[in-house]
Amino acid sequence: MSAEGASADLARAAAGAVSEARLGERLAAMAEIGATGRGGVNRQALTPEEIKARQLFVRWGLELGLEPLIDDMGNLFLRRAGSGGDAAPVVAGSHLDSQPTGGRFDGTYGVLAALEAVQALDGLGIKTAAPVEVAAWTNEEGARFSPGCLGSKVFADPGRLPDLLAVKDLGGVSVADALAAARRAVPEARRRPLGVPVKAYIEAHIEQGPVLEAQGKTIGVVTGIAGRRHFRVEVKGEEAHAGTTPPSRRRDALAAALRMIAGLERVMADPSETVRFTVGRLVVSPNAPSVVPGAVLFTVDFRHPEESAWRRLGDQVPEICKANAGRCAVTVTEISTTRPIAFTGVVRDTIEAVTRRLELSWMPILSGAGHDAENLALLCPTGMLFVPCERGISHNESENAALADLTAGTRVLGAVIAEIAGA
Ligand SMILES: [Zn+2]
Repeated sequence: MSAEGASADLARAAAGAVSEARLGERLAAMAEIGATGRGGVNRQALTPEEIKARQLFVRWGLELGLEPLIDDMGNLFLRRAGSGGDAAPVVAGSHLDSQPTGGRFDGTYGVLAALEAVQALDGLGIKTAAPVEVAAWTNEEGARFSPGCLGSKVFADPGRLPDLLAVKDLGGVSVADALAAARRAVPEARRRPLGVPVKAYIEAHIEQGPVLEAQGKTIGVVTGIAGRRHFRVEVKGEEAHAGTTPPSRRRDALAAALRMIAGLERVMADPSETVRFTVGRLVVSPNAPSVVPGAVLFTVDFRHPEESAWRRLGDQVPEICKANAGRCAVTVTEISTTRPIAFTGVVRDTIEAVTRRLELSWMPILSGAGHDAENLALLCPTGMLFVPCERGISHNESENAALADLTAGTRVLGAVIAEIAGA
């Protein structure tokens, strides 16, 4: 048999050995850790709840004979040895942390799907050539520590470790201090330095949007992740009496901010609905009914999948704000910049090929949300697959997904891991 035929057979077998019941049981067990009243979870990064989830993850790994590893950013890996000695591993995973009112599937699904895929290989007695590692990345959500995707960022660029270890939460606790507790909680995990080579990275995730459900598709083969640019705009005017100050004498920071936002909305208007533009925060000072606003702070969250438009439209944000400032002063600060990522090459191709072979309905889909995969894509061939989530609702305690879809995604993941890790 050809090598290609052998690896396709291996992939098919791996997909067939995935257990829906085991996946469902593990998802339910994780959902109990940090459970909220409304069916969601509050398991923010490196809190006692998330540390408990890490301990359970490590325990499951040890039960399967996997080797737990932890790096300097607290990223956890469960390693299954390959037959090819110290070859670079195929890594699959996602994150166990959540938003304060998060859902049961965001992140957790990708971690547990990868664990189930590895157990399916065990069940078949298959040893892959490359090692396989199940990853749980630290602080993906960015709810407790900012920025998000902290663990995968440092994994891709270890030089950022000292800066990002110093980041503090709202209570003044640093990442470094929170990590020390997380590390003590999993003494079985061997410390591994950052900067290890990776053969390929695959992440399964619920879509967190409505497209797959609306189109009636089971698998989304992710084409890329939209680029993002976040700005903070500070408008400075002058507080004045609302009754006595004539319009020509006013420096109304809110009126200026509204002109800026209207100007930005005109430029960002896009009939194709490719652009994502959001002013999510508006803080007016002093926010009193009879005082001309003296200062306004607002945020801009802008996303676009194409590099040229991402650059051109994003570059216009400061210009438009300045052009509409009138008698006020304005300072525009770009607080974070993430380039668009296009998934091309072996992982995306294999996800598509396996999905076809398993005769699942599928479509190409772009991710508007950020994921750890965008950082791994800087290091190695990377791809993602999405499964539908109910009504597209995520970052919400009522987030839900059908076990049949989650299992289908796990079958694809298992087959892709087997095929790329090789017979
Ligand atoms: Zn996520």
